[in-house]
Amino acid sequence: MTSMRRVAILGSTGSIGGSTLDVIARHPDRYSVAGLAARSQWQKLFEQCIAFRPRIAALLDPAAAESLRAALRDAGSETEVVDGAAGLATVAALDDADTVVAAIVGAAGLASTLEAARHGKRILLANKETLVLAGAWFMRTAREHRAMVLPVDSEHNAIFQCLPHGDDARLASDRRREIHRLILTASGGPFRTAALSNLDAVTPDQACAHPNWVMGRKISVDSATMMNKGLEVIEAHWLFGLPPERISVLIHPQSIVHSLVEYVDGSQLAQLGSPDMRTPIAHALAYPERIDSGVERLDLSAVGRLDFMEPDLARFPCLALAYAALQAGGSAPGILNAANEIAVDAFLAGILRFTDIPRVAEETLARGRMMALESLDAVEACDREARAIAHQCVRAATAAVRQRSFA
Ligand code: NAD
Ligand code: MG
Repeated sequence: MTSMRRVAILGSTGSIGGSTLDVIARHPDRYSVAGLAARSQWQKLFEQCIAFRPRIAALLDPAAAESLRAALRDAGSETEVVDGAAGLATVAALDDADTVVAAIVGAAGLASTLEAARHGKRILLANKETLVLAGAWFMRTAREHRAMVLPVDSEHNAIFQCLPHGDDARLASDRRREIHRLILTASGGPFRTAALSNLDAVTPDQACAHPNWVMGRKISVDSATMMNKGLEVIEAHWLFGLPPERISVLIHPQSIVHSLVEYVDGSQLAQLGSPDMRTPIAHALAYPERIDSGVERLDLSAVGRLDFMEPDLARFPCLALAYAALQAGGSAPGILNAANEIAVDAFLAGILRFTDIPRVAEETLARGRMMALESLDAVEACDREARAIAHQCVRAATAAVRQRSFA
């Protein structure tokens, strides 16, 4: 009989948050919800609070938190509501939670994920930005506080499943020598075979229509540019401790093989499954045990064939930018991430062209200040500075488009 786990979810109203609650609801004997946190969607959080009865719920936005508080009071709920960055930190550090799911999108997830590490939680890490912005530092903090980091990102979860390990997720340094390289698979997104000349005109809805996965809009755009895979290379570097030249990317349009580990003896081990995030979430929740995730069984005979090819860096410049940022080290990956978040926001708002996303990222990376990152303040200052530069780049790019269309 396993003991009950108490789970806190940061970003519960999002795609990963919802999938996590779906898995938890299948196992009321094993998991209960201690805390939930999100940005501003109070109605959705209200429904989750009624269904899962957490002790505490947090919203970043104080006005939305007030609406939630009133609605819960009227419903006779005992859930306490907190707000602001301090509220998120409270949920990340709850005494009565042993597990924290880090599923906020973007650099905004860093502070609360770090807070969970400082409190020695078992961290189910979906927020890859934590590793992109502060990888060395986050992993060190987790180690110091005996916080176990379990990857939820499907590729990293697949690699984790294919690695040799004991009770802990971390790979002993002597075993690292047995690994030749990690191979991250990527679907190539919706524009893998589109004519390059058509990419200028693609719309946000086209970019978000991922062929295999249903995800939040930000990461869907990142899949279309392959910036997502670039960020995942950086994520893999910090999680598994291998240098960039031993982390490669392979296009696999069916998204059935979620990633591979190649050993020095020539063996490649892979993890396969239907493309549904509930599998890696269930794996990380139950590790080292296994539980039902509700995911449709994989029928390879129905899939029929699996294709693999090298990524085309001319089509996907963001992938090369991410390798360059990882090589440069220090603040470079964080600058790239900030620039990309601003560019993707502008694209989703309809003011920046799809093909300008890598241009904004490249220019911001070239102009951003390279430095070593020794504190959360430094990481945040660097993030703010890069966002300001990226905004300038977005303005320049949109002005250039306007000029061309008036000419
Ligand atoms: P989403 O947009 O669906 O949800 C984001 C969640 O974060 C929401 O609950 C939102 O309220 C919260 N949030 C956003 N900004 C916030 C802020 N400033 N403060 C507090 N909360 C905030 O995103 P998602 O697709 O679920 O992705 C979440 C994370 O998981 C991302 O880092 C993404 O890269 C990663 N991830 C997602 C998937 C997927 O399939 N969706 C797969 C792998 C990794
Ligand atoms: Mg992924």
